[in-house]
Amino acid sequence: MHRIVILGGTTEARLLAADLQRHKPDLSVILSLAGRTAAPVEMPVVTRSGGFGGPEGLADYLRAEGVDLLIDATHPFANRISHNAALAVKTSGIRMLALRRAAWVEQAGDRWMKAASPEAAAAVLGQLPRTVFLTIGRQEAGAFSAAPQHRYIVRSVDPVEPPLDVAQADYILARGPFVESQEREFLVAHAIDTIVCKNSGGDATVAKLLAARSLGIEVVMIERPEPPVGVETVETVSEALMCIETIFSQPSSPL
Ligand code: NAP
Repeated sequence: MHRIVILGGTTEARLLAADLQRHKPDLSVILSLAGRTAAPVEMPVVTRSGGFGGPEGLADYLRAEGVDLLIDATHPFANRISHNAALAVKTSGIRMLALRRAAWVEQAGDRWMKAASPEAAAAVLGQLPRTVFLTIGRQEAGAFSAAPQHRYIVRSVDPVEPPLDVAQADYILARGPFVESQEREFLVAHAIDTIVCKNSGGDATVAKLLAARSLGIEVVMIERPEPPVGVETVETVSEALMCIETIFSQPSSPL
């Protein structure tokens, strides 16, 4: 029986794991989570939680578990684990595939300002006070304490701890997917004039961008970090399934 480890924390990782579990009983699938979310979505596959201890720890784990294929289906901004994974398979000789959803692309009517990091995004907001919808996840929200002249509405899955060191901030806990009509109502109700988000791509959280386009609201778009080079990469779950099928239908080819 071939063994696959999926590095997850994304909808795609969950969907891929569930599909393999349902349709490929001859594969043993383990979904690996970082263990950051207090209440992760329940999964019908074997899961493990927590870091491996860097690339060496991951390589040891892959060897000890007899893993044939490592799939990096982590979030496009989870860059450390992606680089660790690329290093780990190099040293352990295990095959790897990355599943990384396509980035969003600016379209007619969008008013995007691009930033390379949360710190850069905080600076891009400028000196004049804005009402900002901050939706970059809880881990890096703290960078906006450097721009306390703005009012923030912060939306995240888990609470932002510690809260921003600013005079005006409200916190909303919510998990996507979100719907455009509700996002539009939300932006209007909070008098948002600027959204700050990461270029995560995908459908689950794109609704805020569609709403911003229709309302003419500015978006500070944090660009993706560079993924590791030389890793075979697909963008969708169905492409990943086809790739996996191909890999395991060639038993004589080196994995
Ligand atoms: P990161 O900075 O790339 O990784 C930090 C450390 O967390 C890694 O070095 C690794 O620890 C551990 N880790 C990360 N993903 C793991 C996984 N799937 N299984 C086991 N260990 C993992 O990652 P991050 O940005 O903190 O993201 C953490 C998790 O949240 C990821 O799984 C990602 O898919 C998900 N996520 C991230 C974002 C985001 O914007 N960054 C958004 C949505 C979901 P060791 O070095 O000890 O192995």
